[in-house]
Amino acid sequence: MAKKDPKELPVEEKLKNLFQLQTTLSAIDEKRALRGELPLEVRDLEDELEGLRTRIEKIEQDIKDYQRAITQKKGDIVEAQASLERYNKQLDTVANNREYDTLTKEIEFQTLEIELCNKKIKEAQYKVEEKQKDLEANRGLLEDRQKALEEKRNELDEIMQETREEEGLLKDKASELETKIESGLLRSFKRIRRGARNGLGIVYVQRDACGGCFNKIPPQRQLDVKMHKKIIVCEYCGRILIDPELAGVKIEKAGEEKPKKRRATRKKKEEGEE
Ligand SMILES: [Zn+2]
Repeated sequence: MAKKDPKELPVEEKLKNLFQLQTTLSAIDEKRALRGELPLEVRDLEDELEGLRTRIEKIEQDIKDYQRAITQKKGDIVEAQASLERYNKQLDTVANNREYDTLTKEIEFQTLEIELCNKKIKEAQYKVEEKQKDLEANRGLLEDRQKALEEKRNELDEIMQETREEEGLLKDKASELETKIESGLLRSFKRIRRGARNGLGIVYVQRDACGGCFNKIPPQRQLDVKMHKKIIVCEYCGRILIDPELAGVKIEKAGEEKPKKRRATRKKKEEGEE
């Protein structure tokens, strides 16, 4: 059977096709939204991990620097002690008062030098301890974030695998539907959809209001929508309007929420009676 030119289709059919296309595209949007946050979360975690690794490297370098300083000070102490020994020996064979004074001053200086080195070593050791605690905490955090990243990556992979196939089918369906819609109408539908925050280009009338922007639709316009003799758009948001019946949607009219509750109660009762 040859395909009908979409232009020849009655408005009713055009609207039905358009609404089906909308449902399909919305399903694709949903799939995208489902994994929407995940790639971002994965990227955030990767950034965080990179920051943590840099911080850990810096701490490790600091520890090395302090340890090098400690080794150096220890070497200085050994040298100072050797000098002390030498000066003390010279003190035994001192020739005059001036020489004695010089030696005593040197001894005093070397003793102070040793004290100072010991103080610096203690300070550096304290810093090393602190840095090591910091290092441990950051390593723990790194491990924790690495696990989280692995989980998120797996989750994303899973969703990608699941949605890729479904999305492919939905895309095929959408392309098929698009061939049944005349190009001009399709273009304006796509334009409206792009401009709409919820991605809806065609909506059904709900409680006398537009299902997209929820502004009230005047009775005459509602009647026109019901007649589906021509394409009617919402005067506020520009979305194409369709009669819910034509869209195949069952909706409750205003003030009809109660039956739903009653149904639920009845169901409960029935279950109770069993
Ligand atoms: Zn509207």
